[in-house]
Amino acid sequence: MPDQTLVLSQGYQPIKVIPWQRAITLLTLGKVELIEEYDEEHIRSRYLVMKMPAVVRLINAFRRHKKPVKFSRINIYGRDKYRCQYCGDEVTLESGTYDHVVPRSKGGKTVWSNIVTCCEPCNAKKSNQTPSEAGMHLRTKPIQPKAVPIQALRISRTSVPDAWASYMYWNSSLIG
Ligand SMILES: [Zn+2]
Repeated sequence: MPDQTLVLSQGYQPIKVIPWQRAITLLTLGKVELIEEYDEEHIRSRYLVMKMPAVVRLINAFRRHKKPVKFSRINIYGRDKYRCQYCGDEVTLESGTYDHVVPRSKGGKTVWSNIVTCCEPCNAKKSNQTPSEAGMHLRTKPIQPKAVPIQALRISRTSVPDAWASYMYWNSSLIG
């Protein structure tokens, strides 16, 4: 039984999943508008019967995390769209690794601008060399993201309710 509500940004991008009770509170406070309901689920209280909110949209611009984005493996993968930054192959948190662009042995630091998502073969090939020494090229310049990458919202495909489907298409290739 679906009991969660998908929250969309003003631009209809999925940003998070919240318990439906929280969605009701946000609706009551006028912070979100109702986009989709679950047809089959009803909330019953003594005085009212209403459909459960499936998708809501923020009314005001979503101010993403004012705090700096946490430096973590999942956020690095998110920034790099789960692709090896050398060959472009898709990696998962399980199959992939990360690479120090400037190797630690050459003074490279473990920071946003020096860490990229990498597949095992590229990591082995690059070894303790800089990209130019290894004859490899970065696909994108690693930077510190201003916002938690949208890919951090990873929802198992099996748990996505039908009512969310048309909104999840934005990053559907990243779900699963
Ligand atoms: Zn690779």
